[in-house]
Amino acid sequence: MPNNPSTIQQTGKSSQLKKIGVLTSGGDAPGMNAAIRAVTRAAIAKDLKVVGIQSGYQGMIQGKFRDLSWRDVSGILHTGGTMLKTARSKEFMTKTGRKKAWQNLVKEGVDAVVVIGGDGSFTGALVFSEEYDIPFVGIPGTIDNDIFGTEYTIGYDSALNTVVQAVDKIKDTAVSHGRIFFIEVMGREAGLLALNSGIAVGAEVILIPESTDDQKVFDRFISKGYKRRKTSGIVIIAEGDEMGGALKIAAKAEKENPDLDIRVSILGHMQRGGSPTAKDRIAASKMGVAAVEALIDNQLNIMIGLRHDQVVHVPFADAVKLNHSIDENLIKIQHMLNS
Ligand code: ATP
Repeated sequence: MPNNPSTIQQTGKSSQLKKIGVLTSGGDAPGMNAAIRAVTRAAIAKDLKVVGIQSGYQGMIQGKFRDLSWRDVSGILHTGGTMLKTARSKEFMTKTGRKKAWQNLVKEGVDAVVVIGGDGSFTGALVFSEEYDIPFVGIPGTIDNDIFGTEYTIGYDSALNTVVQAVDKIKDTAVSHGRIFFIEVMGREAGLLALNSGIAVGAEVILIPESTDDQKVFDRFISKGYKRRKTSGIVIIAEGDEMGGALKIAAKAEKENPDLDIRVSILGHMQRGGSPTAKDRIAASKMGVAAVEALIDNQLNIMIGLRHDQVVHVPFADAVKLNHSIDENLIKIQHMLNS
């Protein structure tokens, strides 16, 4: 495994490992349930007890724990959301909150924790581990696929397919009425969901935060592409694009080109829900098992990642500090297919 041995830490505690906690934190993502199931069943297969922590770090602070058996995680593999619920906890960002969380873990006899979430959740785990001696291992679960050190995060493929299905439907209307649709896609500061969904639907323009020539590409589409030969169009906009959201960009375009029939669609939270795709279920199963194995192998403060479909261990410190770069080739492909 291409680990970074210089920064991987070891607990030296595996002989004492008896009970692990599992929680989901940050935004929900399809496949989180599959990861909870994999962690629970892998741990039980290794003779460990498992406790589910409700509502992320907030539940840790409030002592919301429940034992999980093999059967408790039946029937959830194909379901969206998270059976443990998730939350963003301001209290965990305080020393007092983290102390309460630690006291509850000790009281419950939890020796290690698997946290399923995004880079914020791993930052929380890192801060906690600097104060208390309880090992954490992370599983990346976010539809944004924006975490350094892993090529994949649970939920991304499901969200991508949801966006593609939605835009295919919108495209029928765009073509029938000769309209341009400005469609806003989730992803915060990351444009991968917008870029790949845009390629998959044949969008004329894709505006993402990572691209430096968005304005130029957009102007060219309006002045040359659309006015000369297009009768309809799809513009995909990542929510974090520097030109603004879909509403702002569409309002400006409409003002400058009153002859165009422009409509806006913000896909919003529908992108997070729904049954996970096979890819997400498989990735979650792999990563869930790998997280338990890593804890048994004395690893701590690492995120489980996937590179070339193989499990890798990424120190939390790298996963949260370094940026996930976008594949420039994808941008090139998009430009070439729409020039
Ligand atoms: P998503 O990618 O879906 O937003 P995330 O894990 O990045 O997921 P955040 O809201 O950023 O979501 O973080 C989840 C939780 O992690 C926060 O609500 C907070 O409880 C904890 N956390 C984040 N940063 C810190 C920090 N610096 N110190 C302590 N806890 C933190």
